[in-house]
Amino acid sequence: MQHFPIFLDLAGRRVVIVGGGAAALAKLRLLDRTEARITVFAENPDPAIVGITSAQRRHLVGRDFGPGDALCAALVYAATEDAAEDARIAAIARAEGALVNIVDNLEDSQFITPAIVDRDPVTIAIGTEGAAPVLARSIKRDLEDRLPATLGMLARIGKAFRPLAEALPMGARRRDFWAEYYHDAGPRAAEAGEEGVKAALPALLERHMAVAPRKGAVDFVGAGPGDPELLTMKARAALDRADVVIHDRLVPAAILELARREATVIEAGKTGFGPAMPQDEINALMVAHAGAGAQVVRLKSGDPTVFGRLDEEIEALEAAGLDWRIVPGITAASAAAASLGQSLTRRGRNSDLRVLTGHDIDGFADHDWRTLARPGAVAAIYMGKRAARFLQGRLMMHGADPATPVSAVENASRPDQRVFRCTLGTLNDDLAAAGLTGPAVLMLGLAPRAAETALTATETQEIAL
Ligand code: SAH
Repeated sequence: MQHFPIFLDLAGRRVVIVGGGAAALAKLRLLDRTEARITVFAENPDPAIVGITSAQRRHLVGRDFGPGDALCAALVYAATEDAAEDARIAAIARAEGALVNIVDNLEDSQFITPAIVDRDPVTIAIGTEGAAPVLARSIKRDLEDRLPATLGMLARIGKAFRPLAEALPMGARRRDFWAEYYHDAGPRAAEAGEEGVKAALPALLERHMAVAPRKGAVDFVGAGPGDPELLTMKARAALDRADVVIHDRLVPAAILELARREATVIEAGKTGFGPAMPQDEINALMVAHAGAGAQVVRLKSGDPTVFGRLDEEIEALEAAGLDWRIVPGITAASAAAASLGQSLTRRGRNSDLRVLTGHDIDGFADHDWRTLARPGAVAAIYMGKRAARFLQGRLMMHGADPATPVSAVENASRPDQRVFRCTLGTLNDDLAAAGLTGPAVLMLGLAPRAAETALTATETQEIAL
């Protein structure tokens, strides 16, 4: 981010625009919405500029800009549409301590003007660092369509009502009140104009005051394999209203960013072998926050019901008499299958699918090796990286074909996803050569579709998808 967005208080501050043509007029129209004291320097101003500057706190000076003219100015726009003249103005203005923008000259400007969606006091600034003005305009158009014209009025009236709304306790109840105001009661009342909105607010507040305090609860939410677009809408909604988010380390930052801005975000650790917060501590955290009335999201990678120690956490909540629910997510095996372009089950090949862990609490996990070793068997092996040698040995001992395909999908669905096709006979060496560093799921019995027909027994290949 080269340009950092801020909102500058221009009330009563001096702003200078130099130029009398279309560029200067465009800037003047924008700035005219502020409470700045605006001075335009132009020898031959457009009539529209003359019109706007005849108002209060607007000023037109009918000569060239010169030394001393930018003194005490917060902002100066060089908008003469003449490069040499703009450079001269910018040099003077900078020396006099103003921030300078040269219209259509990103490089020599100290700040840029974003595309603006104005629902004052709600103001949205859109910037693309000058990379794609077309994109900024289309985002602006989308937002203009989406945000009701009454939004500004609702926000203004809402702001004045804030002290009264403090009668509701801070947190979920006050938030519920405002959510209903902005999303439902407010827009409806706005049909009767400003007075309608003002009349509706006290009644709405009274209704919310009468509602019994909300109980805290825990949502066990599946974050999916990592791509934020693979979150369910329920997961989004839960993140949106969370007071506290307790997440596993595998949940990427791009998903955590979707949590409500005020939410307390706590990492509970738990990667395969890394340092982890003890389970008791995680349970205690959930119980403490939900017990105090918070909406807690316990965010787990993939699906919370798959290798997520969910039952232990549910038992802790039930022991404390707290409510909970499960929001399913896309498990790593589903994401890996999608990346391979393969179906997890197939008529005539496998009518069952096994979901295994390479590890369990006692170390390498034991399984029904005889069934897994049969031709056509398909299994998704989680936490299998370090168990590769063990898995390979057990399966071959029970008669599995060394040519059986095994795919490793690392960081499934993420930008850094890698897919490796291996074979059972050389699985351990293949994986060592692959040098996996991220979470990976091994798909026994499946090859990437593109490689399905051309599988060689020995080589490991990274498939670029
Ligand atoms: N509840 C999760 C699994 C948690 S166990 C789920 O349903 O996916 C952690 C294991 O999941 C990792 O060791 C890895 O085997 C697998 N895993 C999780 N995210 C993954 C991803 N994006 N790509 C590949 N494997 C993943």
